[in-house]
Amino acid sequence: MEINLVSDTVTKPTQEMLVQMFQAKVGDDVYKQDPTVIELEAKVADYFGMEAALFFPSGTMANQTAIKLHTQPGEQLIADKWAHVYNYEGGGVSFNSGVSCCLLDGNRGMITANQVAGAINDPEFYHSPLTSLVCVENTTNKGGGACYDFEEFRKIRKVCDTNNLKFHLDGARIWNALVVTKDDPKEYGKVFDTISVCLSKGLGAPIGSLLLSDKETIHRALRIRKILGGGMRQVGYLAAAGLYALEHNIDRLSEDHRRAKELGNVLQKLDWVAKVEPIETNILIFSVQPTINENGLIDQLKQKGISISSMGHGKLRIVTHLDYREVMHSYVMETLEKLIL
Ligand SMILES: *Cc1c(COP(=O)(O)O)cnc(C)c1O
Repeated sequence: MEINLVSDTVTKPTQEMLVQMFQAKVGDDVYKQDPTVIELEAKVADYFGMEAALFFPSGTMANQTAIKLHTQPGEQLIADKWAHVYNYEGGGVSFNSGVSCCLLDGNRGMITANQVAGAINDPEFYHSPLTSLVCVENTTNKGGGACYDFEEFRKIRKVCDTNNLKFHLDGARIWNALVVTKDDPKEYGKVFDTISVCLSKGLGAPIGSLLLSDKETIHRALRIRKILGGGMRQVGYLAAAGLYALEHNIDRLSEDHRRAKELGNVLQKLDWVAKVEPIETNILIFSVQPTINENGLIDQLKQKGISISSMGHGKLRIVTHLDYREVMHSYVMETLEKLIL
């Protein structure tokens, strides 16, 4: 049994998803003639109470497009120090947009309106970069799948309005957050200028992200996506996977969350585990006692067919997902309990 708990991006399309992909009606999406892409874009925009959406090959490109939309070279964005846009997008913030980041010391990847207010450069003080954008992540990736209290978004929105800033949500795992918080997704559309969402994480599609906003902004995004090389042709086959995922794979995310919590409970009791971070969704971060070699642990698990990843500094990460089924879960819990280190 091969059990991959490195990420929720390792899932493979199911037979049912593949059938829906095979049957998709397609056209050239660069000319906006692919009916399945158009259907997906309309559906996701409506889901979040936004006017329009644009299909992207990756979440990174959707985020990078949002940053480009909201900034001019030389300006600055505000984000948490663990933000994906800063840490895991290859320096695209500076490469694509010529923008710097003001990084805040948030809580598990989450920042507050007060922190944001304190990080805005005085626009009259022309020696400093002009602050023009705030980026937040929900759930947080490096923060271990933590979910924001929606009220904080409203407060940050107010700070943005007062200071003429745009507000972007990196919602790669927004579906996980929605399942836990039960927030109305349409409220998101009211608070953010742009939202990126991924279909290829917990939802189990092989590829695909969308950027959501108002019509005018999405029209401008079309040009940026083209420049970044993200204009795709008969791509309805992939959009069909996304439509399938939206239909079938949102509610079941709570199973991934339950399993992550159960794994956390098992780890908590083991003497070689130093600390298990709070588990809200499908990401579990834990640290081992200083005497334990984390690579040795990873190797031992690997020999038993279980892959997990290291985050460095004695921290390890487990991510549950669609292809991590109950039989695997029982086996992993048993294996962890029996492990001798
Ligand atoms: C996965 C992820 C993305 C997008 O990553 P891609 O690999 O480009 O799809 C963006 N933000 C966060 C927080 C993520 O976890």
